This record gives sequence, C-alpha cells and structure tokens, in this order.
Amino acid sequence: MKECCGKVLKWETQSLKESDYPFEDTKCAECGTGYARKIGSKIVYVKKDGVWICLSCSSKIELVVVSHPILIDRGYRSSAETGKNANEQVPFCPKCEMAPSPEGKVIHRIRTNFKK
Ligand SMILES: [Zn+2]
Ligand SMILES: [Zn+2]
Repeated sequence: MKECCGKVLKWETQSLKESDYPFEDTKCAECGTGYARKIGSKIVYVKKDGVWICLSCSSKIELVVVSHPILIDRGYRSSAETGKNANEQVPFCPKCEMAPSPEGKVIHRIRTNFKK
C-alpha cells in the first residue's frame, strides 16, 4: 500500500515508542481516505464511513488495550519502583492477524527530575 488516487502516501507513526505493536497511519490528500497498518505488516486497515476495516478481508478492525508496566529507576537508589501503567490501543484484524497480547513489555524510565 503505497499510493491512493495516484499520490504517494506519507505514513506517520502514531504509537508509543516502546510499543510491542508499533503502527502508523496516513490519509489520502485527494479523497480523504484514512489508512493504518502495523509497521512491517502487509495487512492494511482502511477507514470507510467512519469504521476501520481490513483491506484484505473487509473484517471490522478490533482494538486491544495493551498495558505496559512502567518501572521508574530512581538513580540514587539501587531498587526500581513500579509506577503507573502506560496503556495503548492496538488495532488488529480478527481474521488476518493474531490478537495482540494485552500484557505489554515493561517500559523503563529513568527519573531525572522530581517535578510531578
Ligand atoms: Zn485517495
Ligand atoms: Zn483481514
């Protein structure tokens, strides 16, 4: 999926940089059709009448909330501390793709300042 209406699509990443399932989306400047896909995947989702469907099989795209535990490493202590979870919504085609695991990988953050 590179072009729509004869124009090259510019894909932009929309997910957390730590995501297990990074995806990107784009919009055709000519017809306004939205597209999204997981980075590196051949399965493309297309937005039709406000609903995301799979370009390959026309199934309705489903979303899984993937939760990443955040581990905050306070430099002056040897132990790390668990912070909040970062949630992200990961789209997938229920026919063409496996459902993403709702348990995302741990995100390590080094706490460098103590402002809230
Ligand atoms: Zn188009
Ligand atoms: Zn599909």
